[in-house]
Amino acid sequence: MMKKFSFVFLSFMFLFVLALTSCGGKSLDVISTIYPGADFAKAVLKDSTMEADMLVKPGVDIHNYSPSAVDIKNVLKAKVFIYVGGEDDSKWVEEEILSSAPKELKIINMFDCLRNAGVSLLGEEKPTSADELEEEDALDKVEYDSHVWTSITNASIIIKAICDALCEIDSSNKDKYIRNTNAYIASLNMMDEEIKDIVSNAKTNFLCFGDRFPFLYFVKEYGINYDAAFMGCSSNKDASSKVIVSLTNQVKEKHLSYVFVVEMSSSTVARTIKEEIEKEKKNGYDGPSIEILTFYSMQNITKDDYKKGYTYLDFMKKNVEALRLALN
Ligand SMILES: [Zn+2]
Repeated sequence: MMKKFSFVFLSFMFLFVLALTSCGGKSLDVISTIYPGADFAKAVLKDSTMEADMLVKPGVDIHNYSPSAVDIKNVLKAKVFIYVGGEDDSKWVEEEILSSAPKELKIINMFDCLRNAGVSLLGEEKPTSADELEEEDALDKVEYDSHVWTSITNASIIIKAICDALCEIDSSNKDKYIRNTNAYIASLNMMDEEIKDIVSNAKTNFLCFGDRFPFLYFVKEYGINYDAAFMGCSSNKDASSKVIVSLTNQVKEKHLSYVFVVEMSSSTVARTIKEEIEKEKKNGYDGPSIEILTFYSMQNITKDDYKKGYTYLDFMKKNVEALRLALN
């Protein structure tokens, strides 16, 4: 009787432990802190058995993220780990992940990839209308803008580095990875040409963001001018009346029809500008009403867009269409 009981008990324990160990989520070969790195890796790995995904879950803001014990365990089990290297992820990556990373884990730091390719990283910039920097920020050393992947040229450099790492750890599929990467870069180049074409034939050269502005690399690449309510990584959602007045004046001066927001935004500032313009129209302003458009930074994506399987190229296509509207 006792024997039978312990057998049943042990069987239960075995199943319980099995269930526990499989609870940590499926194990991934490539993990990127943010969406673009994961998307590039998925493109390289097309038709392969290896899997890539992002660490910061869809819909979560990386600026308020810190990894769980399970997140860290999954990264340390992976073959390749990709992170940006800027102020958005380097602190917790260095403390929680790099400090205990096994030698076999290939680590790709986007900032380093770009520096190695001779790209000069851009320092953060304060948009014209944004409030003065907090005193402690102003005294701080120069921070680099984190959102390097919004430049298509940078995206090509990063995807090449991911391809190199995957070719090294899985040389038997090297030809496939290189083929996939070249196809992706060809699509990026086509998009780059399309944007250059839009910008060179545009009526205006100016974008107004009633939001934060993680697009410095994008606009600098094409010589587009901009103004925004907040800096790239700002967690601010409410602008001071000074900021609203300044942006509304820009819209009026340039007779703009569009004000931009970033994905997953509350759109509060953009809506206020739109309302201000309607008031101004009643007071004799003869410019157009405002339409609010989304420009995708891809720092993270919504759960819905994640389920739909949207890629960097899909979001960039949406940006290109928004750009076509706003610059004409
Ligand atoms: Zn940021």
